[in-house]
Amino acid sequence: MLFEWSKTNLPKQLFINNEYVASKNSKKLELINPKNGKTITNDVDLANAEDVDAAVEAAEKACPEWKKTSPTKRRDIMNKFADLIEQNGEVLAELTRISLGAPYGSFGKFETDLAAETFRYNAGWIDKFAGESFSQEDGFMKIVRNEPLGVTAGIVPWNGPLGTMGLKAAPALATGNVFILKPSEKTPFSSLALGPLIVEAGFPPGVFQVLSGDGSTGGLISAHMRIRKVSFTGSVATGKRVQEAASKSNLKRVTLELGGKSPAVVFDDCNLENAITWTANAITANTGQVCFAASRVYVQEGIYDKFVAGYKKQMQEKARLIGDPDKESTQIGPLADQAQFDRVSGFIERGKSQGDLLVGGSRVGESGYFIEPTVFTNVNDDAEIVTQEIFGPVSIVNSFKDEAEIMHRSNNTNFGLMAGVFTQDINKALRVASEFDSGMVGVNCVSLMFMNVPFGGTKESGIGRECGSAGLRAFTDTKTIMINLTY
Ligand code: NAD
Repeated sequence: MLFEWSKTNLPKQLFINNEYVASKNSKKLELINPKNGKTITNDVDLANAEDVDAAVEAAEKACPEWKKTSPTKRRDIMNKFADLIEQNGEVLAELTRISLGAPYGSFGKFETDLAAETFRYNAGWIDKFAGESFSQEDGFMKIVRNEPLGVTAGIVPWNGPLGTMGLKAAPALATGNVFILKPSEKTPFSSLALGPLIVEAGFPPGVFQVLSGDGSTGGLISAHMRIRKVSFTGSVATGKRVQEAASKSNLKRVTLELGGKSPAVVFDDCNLENAITWTANAITANTGQVCFAASRVYVQEGIYDKFVAGYKKQMQEKARLIGDPDKESTQIGPLADQAQFDRVSGFIERGKSQGDLLVGGSRVGESGYFIEPTVFTNVNDDAEIVTQEIFGPVSIVNSFKDEAEIMHRSNNTNFGLMAGVFTQDINKALRVASEFDSGMVGVNCVSLMFMNVPFGGTKESGIGRECGSAGLRAFTDTKTIMINLTY
């Protein structure tokens, strides 16, 4: 089935109980196209308390049946949904691109494929996510079951709306929960467009719903007394608010996927070309608006000058790939909106007095929110461009002498999402990988993820993990059943 949505026929209403319905709120969302700063529309629904309650009520009604639906049926529905995402991939990517500015070739296709894959991967788990049983020699048989939580929700950011949707919705639905999605106010269209695909795939009413809205809607979800779990991806500041609202309400379960300031440590004995390519790609993919981007690059003294020359050249080449995100040849689009543009430009301007500007530093073009890939060198470790997440195509490159020194400097941050080490020495690679205080480490690679292994951060980069079996566990509680065998 191919749906009718397009950039001239945008989905704007809430999707509750398998129907599009108008919000009870007179306040609406305005969306801007970041390639030219022009308003796309100003009448997208913003869910209020009444709308959230309506979705929760429908979800509660749907929950008992969905939980008991046979694993093969649930699997088939999820696989069909994956097929439908794929069939409508180009339109879904366009609906994201219109307000995010991410080109299809370098991001849109990757993201829609990722969303489809989350459903296939998690569908495959449905009849394999086993519990445990324990020996009965003490007279009691013990069974541990993975129980769904009930009504769950996902609150997602704007930088990868469909991918993050899948990372939350798919494990939630696979484990027998019902799910409410709250997309970002900056990129709601691809999420709102899912309605016909949800129906066509065979999800019963109330099982999978979409509420567009802003932080106020997210706040209502986090504080809701009848939502049992929120999986959140976004900034550290908002993540803390979500956790606070969860504990002040019903102690709902919370998974937090937050920001990063990820280090890449490049040793003298690495393959230089490989290190340059991975680190340059890491900070320019999706215009640097990636939580696990390697934004702090540390290079050992012996190859520092050579690395800097090569990295600068690649950044200059990347700058030539910036353009209209709607054109096939474009690899790098604009930043997502004026706020993001002002924020990144502010860091760049202040950065000019914190270190040496190696390359970039300027706006591209007169309209839209395009910015050059930008690199600073020789920056003090306590400068804000080293310590704070910029969330744009901006990195720092500093030199280091030895391993002990650079492990301290790498870990001296409140974040702990991703880290990378580049070396040909396997002993050093494994030593450094275990020393990094982060949820993920790449060896001779950085800023990447796989569906079948845990994704997430330490410290203020988050709580809990997505992907792999960890992703399913995050949407279940264990139940222990103890059977007295004497009677
Ligand atoms: P954000 O925190 O501003 O918003 C994220 C979502 O939270 C949006 O849907 C927003 O409407 C909602 N929200 C806002 N206020 C809320 C509140 N009080 N209660 C509940 N929900 C609320 O983040 P953003 O600007 O959309 O995204 C950028 C951030 O996301 C960056 O920090 C980035 O590193 C992070 N991120 C992390 C990951 C990861 O997996 N670790 C992935 C992508 C992005």
